[in-house]
Amino acid sequence: MACIIDGKALAAEIKRNLKKDAEEFETRYGRKITLAVILVGENPASCVYVNNKVKAAEFVGIKSLSFRLPESATERDVEQVVKSLAADKSVDGILVQLPLPKHINEEKILSLVPPEKDVDGFTAENVGNTTLFKEGINSCTPAGIIYMLKSINAPLCGKHAVVIGRSNIVGKPVAMLLLKENCTITVCHSKTENLGEITRQADILIAAVGKPRFVKADMVKDGAIVIDVGINRTESGLCGDVDFDGVKDKASYISPVPGGVGPMTIATLMQNVYKCAVRRENAGL
Ligand code: NAD
Repeated sequence: MACIIDGKALAAEIKRNLKKDAEEFETRYGRKITLAVILVGENPASCVYVNNKVKAAEFVGIKSLSFRLPESATERDVEQVVKSLAADKSVDGILVQLPLPKHINEEKILSLVPPEKDVDGFTAENVGNTTLFKEGINSCTPAGIIYMLKSINAPLCGKHAVVIGRSNIVGKPVAMLLLKENCTITVCHSKTENLGEITRQADILIAAVGKPRFVKADMVKDGAIVIDVGINRTESGLCGDVDFDGVKDKASYISPVPGGVGPMTIATLMQNVYKCAVRRENAGL
């Protein structure tokens, strides 16, 4: 039976430490760290994520400003909000909750977030820094995954990490961060042939597919470390991309859903907000 990687407990520890850092920041600079959150429309999952982020910010002592626009908002409406927050010196971080409604060009909106306020690590500059292994703001979920792996002292150097999924927010950046840790990387996706043959070679298997219980026990090597990124809402409740009950008897470590990567994403987001605030003060912005 695998050891469970308790993302909820790890995230709570990160947030407790950040609370002290945020207090020190306030004493030192005479102002509260400030995060602006933009939500367009009423996507139920997005509403839950935004509420959880606002709650986490409150716990840590980060001031959050919420901008909720109706589904009918135009691209120009969203542009104006982002532009005004970009120019506002009291705002340290801007988070645009994705997905945006279909009529709004996400890439265009994200390009308006200045890299120094890009707490999600989605701008071309921050993605570039991640790829160049340079100091910057890394995407939250991938950074949280690396934190989880380090928390269990997982050997990473020279190990084969297989990532299922190549999205810009999870698959690609987590592959880059694992490469930075000297893993040998294979990225699989919907066009990959013989997926099981590849995943069975993984010392570390990251599932970011968006399909309930997609990774079965016969796709996993004995003793592998399995990180489940998926959040799927099914009739029987929330579940991940990994068939937890089957895989737990094969893996050495496994992250659960809920209580695994999800809380880590939010804790890492808070770390990014803090990092942005300190960097902005140091740069005199
Ligand atoms: P996405 O839909 O953008 O990407 C899914 C990826 O899976 C694609 O690259 C696709 O090529 C690949 N894929 C689809 N079918 C496949 C198949 N049969 N074989 C191999 N690969 C296949 O999704 P995403 O944004 O990367 O999110 C993935 C999952 O992670 C979703 O369930 C999402 O809700 C969840 N998620 C969780 C967090 C968190 O904080 N826990 C954060 C982001 C995303």
